[in-house]
Amino acid sequence: MLSILPTASLVVGPDGDVLHANPRTLALGLVNRMRLVVPELATLAAEVAESGAPIEREMRVRRPPLGRELLELHARTALLGTGVVLILIDDLSEERRVDAVRRDFVANVSHELKTPVGALSVLAEAVLSCSDEADQVRHFAERMQLEATRLASLIQDVIDLSRLQGDDPANRAEIVDVDEMVERAIDEVRTLATAHHVEFLVGQPSTAYLLGDRSQLQTAVRNLLTNAIAYSPSSTRVAVAARLADGIVEVMVKDQGIGIPANDLDRVFERFYRVDPARSRVTGGTGLGLAIVKHVCQNHGGECRVWSEVGVGSTFTLRLPAYVEGAPNPSLEVVQ
Ligand code: ADP
Repeated sequence: MLSILPTASLVVGPDGDVLHANPRTLALGLVNRMRLVVPELATLAAEVAESGAPIEREMRVRRPPLGRELLELHARTALLGTGVVLILIDDLSEERRVDAVRRDFVANVSHELKTPVGALSVLAEAVLSCSDEADQVRHFAERMQLEATRLASLIQDVIDLSRLQGDDPANRAEIVDVDEMVERAIDEVRTLATAHHVEFLVGQPSTAYLLGDRSQLQTAVRNLLTNAIAYSPSSTRVAVAARLADGIVEVMVKDQGIGIPANDLDRVFERFYRVDPARSRVTGGTGLGLAIVKHVCQNHGGECRVWSEVGVGSTFTLRLPAYVEGAPNPSLEVVQ
C-alpha cells in the first residue's frame, strides 16, 4: 500500500533500520542502504518509538547526499508495533518555492506600477502649476499620455502572463497557419518599425501549421519583433523566417541590434529582468515580453532559443511541434 502512495513513506524498525521505504522516499534521498540518512528523521523515529505518541513535525533539512539544496518536509508518524514506526513525509519545498516566486512577482509588479503612477502624479502637479501657459500644459499632457500608455501595457502584460500560467491551449486548440500568423504579427508592429526606420526581411513561406492558441502564438512573435525593433539602431534590418524541420516549426527573428551580453542570456526570460533598466525605460518595455514568450512556448510543448553577440545582434527562435494532418492527436479537440 505504501509503495503506491504519492507521499514519501517509510517504516523504521526498533534498531533504526529502515524496513520499508517507498520510491518517493528513495527519490528524495532520505534513505540509503536501508538506513535513514537524515538525522532529524532518525531522531523523530526514536522519539515516537519511545513515547508511543504520534508526532507531526515540519523540518528543514539538507537534501542528501550533497546537502546543497534545502528540503522543507512535513512528517507525520504513527507507532505500528513495538518500536516499529511509520513515517509519512510531504515535501513542501516546491509549494514553498512557488509561493515565494508569487510573492516576489506581486512585490515586483507593485514596484513597477509605482513608477508610472508616481510620474503621472508629478506631471498632474506640473500641469496645475502652469495652467496659464498653453505650451507647457501641452508638453506635460503629452508626457502624461506616455506614462498612461506605459501603465496600460504593463497591466496588459501582467494580465496576459497570469492568463498564460493558468491556461492550457489544448482547450482552445485550432489549426494555425504559421505564415499567416507571422504576417499578422508583422502587421501589428509595422508602424513601430517605420517610426524606428527598421526594415523587415521576410523569408520564404514555411507552409507549416501549428495546433494551438492563435492569439497566444501571435503575441509571442509580436513580442520578439517589438524587441528586435526596440533594441536595434535605426536603419537596420530585422529578418523574420519560418520553416518546418523534422516535425518542428521554427520561427526565427534576427536583428542587427545591440545584442545581449553572454552573462545575461540565461536571465532575459525571467520576469522583469532587463539587461539595461535605463534603456528599457526609454523604450517603454515592461520587462515581461520574453517571460510571456517563454510561457507561450511551454504551453505549446515547445521552447524559445536565443543566440546573441554584443554589437552584432540577436536571434530568437521559437521551436514548436508542427501540426501534421492525419497524425493521431487524441488529447486535443480541434476547432476549425
Ligand atoms: P522589455 O520590456 O524590457 O523589453 P523583455 O522581457 O521583452 O522586456 O526583454 C528582457 C530584456 O532582454 C530587455 O530588457 C533587453 O535587455 C533584453 N532583450 C530582449 N530582446 C532583445 C533584443 N532583440 N536585443 C537586445 N536585447 C534584448
